[in-house]
This record gives sequence, structure tokens and C-alpha cells, in this order.
Amino acid sequence: MKVIIHGGFFSESATNQETKKAKQDALAEIVEKAYRFLTSHTALETVVYATSLLENNELFNAGIGSQIQSDGKVRLSASLMDGKTQKFSGVINLEDVKNPIAVAQKLLNYDDRVLSGEGALAFARNNGFEYFNPITAQRQSEYEAKLNQQERKGTVGCVALDAEGNLAAATSTGGKGFEIPCRVSDSATVAGNFATDFAGISCTGVGEDIVSGALAAKIVTRVTDGFTLKAACDKSFEELKPFDGFAGVVGISAKGEIYHCYSHPYMVWASFDGSLQAFN
Ligand code: ASP
Repeated sequence: MKVIIHGGFFSESATNQETKKAKQDALAEIVEKAYRFLTSHTALETVVYATSLLENNELFNAGIGSQIQSDGKVRLSASLMDGKTQKFSGVINLEDVKNPIAVAQKLLNYDDRVLSGEGALAFARNNGFEYFNPITAQRQSEYEAKLNQQERKGTVGCVALDAEGNLAAATSTGGKGFEIPCRVSDSATVAGNFATDFAGISCTGVGEDIVSGALAAKIVTRVTDGFTLKAACDKSFEELKPFDGFAGVVGISAKGEIYHCYSHPYMVWASFDGSLQAFN
């Protein structure tokens, strides 16, 4: 059993030491909780659980504490992929819910599995997801000062390998911040989140770059074709270089390889497989 999570990027210049430590501590606590949960749950249930905990922590740009789009609204995107069934589900630009990953989980059992905007909201309300305003005072003042035009804040994600050998991946984001309303993030696409029974990958970074690099699906395909997880990630990151792609990934393969990498400083991450490893 293994689990790895990320809390996206932070820019050194814009992030004080206290915030950096708080993020690292939060990731270490959440990854250990996720591992304990994994001992009695599937990989699929565990990635939803871990991603919900990350969404509930306002240090991260997902769920509560998400960044605000240029019209002053928060629109959340999240997706989930079950490596065993190869089913993918997601929500794009969903407003006013607490845990978009839970809505994505609900969609996994439907024929129509990726919903956006008003349709996603109607689905959420019809399935008992209540009104929740994810805007925090901190994000509101950043928005007002237009500070985060220069900053990249962290999306969250999780990949887990359970006792049965099944893999799953989940990713959740508030987007880039200040984007054109209803811009589509990579996080609810197969470029940002992908899993089969060979490997699972969750991405963070600039969504447009991640989509251009078809990153998560490409890495998993390479592992399926015989690459090690590290070689698959490294080659796929080489292919981001011609356009200076800004991305980071966490992943696990069915063989139990666990890996993370990023093209720009610094993505925060943590993994647990009986012992803790983390960004420091
Ligand atoms: N990938 C996310 C997006 O472009 C943002 C992030 O990972 O920080 O919406």
C-alpha cells in the first residue's frame, strides 16, 4: 500500500516561511491519515478522502481557499479516475459547493460523467450537496489587491495503491486565479489526472501547459508500454521543455514505484508507505 499527495506549487518570493511550514505540516498529517484510511479502504475511496481533506484546508487552492476568477467568482474543478475500471469522472467550473471531489465521486456511477457549470451545480444540489461559499478573507484580499496575478498557488491531488493492487487518482483545483470566467482547467481532464491498472498520475501547474503536454495520460501510457515510472515522467517532462511547460506530478505504478517531479520550483508533496517522505 502506498499513497502520495501534492499541494501544488508555491512561489518562494511570495510565500513566507510560516506558510511554507504550515503547508508541509498539513501535507504530512493528511498523507498519514490517508494511509491509515487506505488500510481498510480501496485506492478509489482513499484518493477521494485525501483530496477532501486537502480541499477542506484553506492553505491550498482547492475547495475552501480556492483562487478567484476575474469576475470575482470561485469556480471549482475536480476529477477522479479509477484505475481498475478505467472510469473517469469530473466537474468543471462548479460554484458554491464545499467538496467538488465528492461530486465527481458521485458522477462515477453515471453514464454522463463529466459535467460543467450550471449542469454540474444542478446535479450537485439534486444529490444533496448544500450551498457553501469557498471564498476566504485571505483570497478575497488577494483578489482585491490583484496580488496573485504574479503567484501560482497549489492545486491538490492524490494517487493511491491499495492492498488489492488497485490504483486511483484524484485532483482538485480552484484554477489559476484571475482567469477569464469559465476557463477550463486541466484538473478535470485526462491531461491533469489519469489512472489505469498500470499507473496513476495527478498533475499541478499551468493547465494550458499540462494539456499541451497531455501529461498524465502520456506518462501512464509510457508506463503501460514498459517504461519505469521515473523514465516515463522524465521523458514526458523533457517534452515540456520546448514550450517551457510549467508542471508538477505525483504518481504510483502498479509495481509500487512512487515518484514526483516538477519543472519549476517548488511543488509541495508528501508520500507514505509505512514511512513518511516529504518536500523539505
Ligand atoms: N493546474 C491548475 C489549473 O491550471 C492550477 C494549478 O495546478 O495550480 O487550473
